[in-house]
Amino acid sequence: MNIIAIYPGSFDPITNGHIDIIKRALLIFDKIVVLVAVNPNKRFTFSVDERVSMIRDSLKDYPQVSVDSTSGLTVHYAQKIGAKAMIRGLRAATDFEYEFQINNANRFIDKQIESIFFMAKHEFMFISSSTIKEMVAGGIDVSKLVPAPVWAKFNHK
Ligand code: ADP
Repeated sequence: MNIIAIYPGSFDPITNGHIDIIKRALLIFDKIVVLVAVNPNKRFTFSVDERVSMIRDSLKDYPQVSVDSTSGLTVHYAQKIGAKAMIRGLRAATDFEYEFQINNANRFIDKQIESIFFMAKHEFMFISSSTIKEMVAGGIDVSKLVPAPVWAKFNHK
């Protein structure tokens, strides 16, 4: 069996919270495609290419993980590559409502593709891409909260 899951998100940029979800999901799935979802209605700090390359560099030691982007629906991408599941993470109750809504929309499109939710570990609960960016803007060292290639990119910028 070769069970594939996609992990869609903005990843603007990828954080250690995302990385933890991916490592835990690898215990269940054979292959994971981290999918940078291109959303024209959202403003991002990093371009799609920058986000994809930071994710690739951060996960280069995991051959079971690949990285791609899509401007279409994530469900359509999952169908195209034969993925069985979509991975998402849940931090607090505030994540729940949003995730519940997307999940229902995705189920409406294709009920065969199941969404699987991983609860954030205690130490990653407060980490979000936007919190990281605010901390960096305030001069805080976030090197323990993001993968090394992301920290390097922040320093470069
Ligand atoms: P989106 O814009 O689609 O929410 P994100 O990159 O913010 O994209 O998040 C992708 C997924 O990862 C979401 O399901 C989000 O709840 C989850 N996630 C983000 N940060 C963490 C974290 N620190 N721990 C666990 N899950 C997380």
